[in-house]
Amino acid sequence: MISNGGAIALDTPRMPVQRNRLKNVPIDGTKRILLAAPRGYCAGVDRAVIAVEKALENFGAPVYVRKQIVHNIHVVTTLEKKGAIFVDEVDEVPEGSHIVFSAHGVSPAVVKGAADRQLQAIDATCPLVTKVHREAVRFARDDFEILLIGHHGHEEVEGTMGHAPERTTLVNSPADVPNITVKNPDHLVWLSQTTLSVDETMETVRLLRERFPNLQDPPSDDICYATQNRQVAIKKVAEEAELVIVVGSANSSNTVRLVDVALENGARAAYRVDYASEIKQEWLDGIATIGVTSGASVPEVLVQEVLDDLADAGYTDVAQVVTAEEDLMFSLPKELRTDAQGNPDERGLGGRSRKLDWQRDDG
Ligand code: SF4
Repeated sequence: MISNGGAIALDTPRMPVQRNRLKNVPIDGTKRILLAAPRGYCAGVDRAVIAVEKALENFGAPVYVRKQIVHNIHVVTTLEKKGAIFVDEVDEVPEGSHIVFSAHGVSPAVVKGAADRQLQAIDATCPLVTKVHREAVRFARDDFEILLIGHHGHEEVEGTMGHAPERTTLVNSPADVPNITVKNPDHLVWLSQTTLSVDETMETVRLLRERFPNLQDPPSDDICYATQNRQVAIKKVAEEAELVIVVGSANSSNTVRLVDVALENGARAAYRVDYASEIKQEWLDGIATIGVTSGASVPEVLVQEVLDDLADAGYTDVAQVVTAEEDLMFSLPKELRTDAQGNPDERGLGGRSRKLDWQRDDG
């Protein structure tokens, strides 16, 4: 049994157990699971989820949240039950209420919209997204044109573009590169969404540089450590796994990229599931080795449920494939570093554990 090590504050409930839904059909060979690590919650998600919980504790329900706090349906519904109300835009929020901005970040126009309604804003933007916002502002100020590699319509992309709207062009994929137009090819920089496929992004950059040889690189990687680490781990797993199951939601960019990366690196099949109950018996036909991972917004309890269901199907031999250790942790937004009585809160500045199960001595 693999636990989450008590790392995550949000008590995400288990789904109702449907024991023996999957059948243990004999195969040639030994059934086993390779469990990728790192997987699951990143530091930015951990911080954003705790921010909503603490806002509920300190200010009472309801607390409004603009967009999904993180892209995971189970986390969102769990927070809704505790009193969070998720809205699309700030004009849906009653004046004077508390509002949390999601981990994906917001544009200055959203911040202004909240201020105009006298909302008490708590910014749970991941600091690694804020870093990209700052880069966009700085390069725009220095008269650069910015080629932002990212997915059209993603909240993070909308937030980043909103920091330099006149100077940013979105590059959605390598296929966009031939059609990009710029004013000055010698004063160009590329930035990216934090949750992309590293390999596809590098291919996009290569094509951009073929067209614009003086294209400048960002000062440091925009694709975040968590996205990169989860992709490295699933690449290693996919070398041996015939089937890969990725736990996470369909609107989670880094989760969907894990499916792509698994397929590009040896897995014969890869599927994304929100819940264990979505695993189909036919996926397991003749499969000896299954890889399992989860996106950066996925609580470990959902992975555990997948392992439990696969155990019913005879996959009881579970080995972790650890490609990196993670201990990064961000302090909470400044409005939340005290408890409801105004005393310093140990979770606010780093008192919470970031040790996940695969980092525990007994894990
Ligand atoms: S995936 Fe990366 S950028 Fe997004 S919240 Fe997590 S650490 Fe931050």
